[in-house]
Amino acid sequence: MSGIVYLVGSGPGGLGLLTFRAREVIDAAEVVLYDQLPGEEVLASLPASAEKINCGKFGGAHTLTQDEIESLMVDRAKKGYRVVRLKGGDSFVFGRGGEEMEVLREHNITVEVVPGITSAVAVPECVGIPVTHRTWASQVTFLTGHEDPTKEESAIDWRWLAGSPGTIVILMGVKNLPMITRSLIEHGMAGTKPVAIIERGFRPDQRVTTGTLADITKKAEESGVKPPAIIVIGEVVSLYRDGSEGAWSR
Ligand code: SAH
Repeated sequence: MSGIVYLVGSGPGGLGLLTFRAREVIDAAEVVLYDQLPGEEVLASLPASAEKINCGKFGGAHTLTQDEIESLMVDRAKKGYRVVRLKGGDSFVFGRGGEEMEVLREHNITVEVVPGITSAVAVPECVGIPVTHRTWASQVTFLTGHEDPTKEESAIDWRWLAGSPGTIVILMGVKNLPMITRSLIEHGMAGTKPVAIIERGFRPDQRVTTGTLADITKKAEESGVKPPAIIVIGEVVSLYRDGSEGAWSR
């Protein structure tokens, strides 16, 4: 007897952006292992009868280690349960969903991946910033800002990035914002390049801070920008209009 694990992306927040397939498998789940990023609304809608396991918070200390999460998932699936692993956005975009799929495959457990709407696209979008645009951006780069760019062994090619046209979207970049902006400027990107930071997209307390590559760090410090937030760098930011964030509703 072997169960199944659904790797489910919940979208960027709220029930409106959860897919039908996600709703279906969540409602039928016997075990749900969840992160905090899906947000209050989605977490409040988990089935009452399911075993619900809190796997961690964003930014802060994790309640369970990645190994512990994977062991629990494997254990429940082997007991024959229908298991949902629920994450914010899309689980294959900076969500460790790929790693979890590999572990489940090693244990010959059936996996279904349920795509979610990634915050990397949807959060800029909800304040009127398109990540591509025929005039402004024919390419877009998504990256994690988790890494300190001043580290020698950085997995990100900052020199290439600073010289690349189009849009840069950074996830998990708030802590390293000073290093990121400095690194891009040092590698030749114009200090006048527009930047927007969108905190808590699709939540009632969503907030946008705009500036340039040269002054965004100071502005972010002044307004006390905190994770989770998406940082967008590029000309498309000029399409943002103050107040447009109120236009989105589910
Ligand atoms: N798998 C997720 C990303 C997880 S990494 C996805 O596809 O969206 C966590 C980072 O996602 C956060 O640090 C932040 O940069 C971003 N993020 C996720 N949801 C967000 C939201 N509602 N508002 C702003 N940023 C968000």
